[in-house]
Amino acid sequence: MPWCTRCDRFLSPSTVTPTGECPRCGATVDPGHAHAAPPRADEAPPPIAAAPDDEITASDEETPLPIPWHFKLLVGALALYLGWRAVQGVEWLARLL
Ligand SMILES: [Zn+2]
Repeated sequence: MPWCTRCDRFLSPSTVTPTGECPRCGATVDPGHAHAAPPRADEAPPPIAAAPDDEITASDEETPLPIPWHFKLLVGALALYLGWRAVQGVEWLARLL
């Protein structure tokens, strides 16, 4: 099973590029046995343009991507901001009463 250390996820052998790279980040990974028979690629060229997207989507359903760090940072900053605004709201209410 190919493993991409940069993406920190398993790749299904069919999604690894023929040159043995991760389809998402381009890092070199162990291609496994997906492309053990390279002559077939010349005999029957598949519709390359459409296939990779479908395969990536299929693998995403199996193993969801890890949450990116910048999304966690955004959520954390939003929580801090909304918390601060809640404190300000309580102070504003206290002044009215
Ligand atoms: Zn990768």
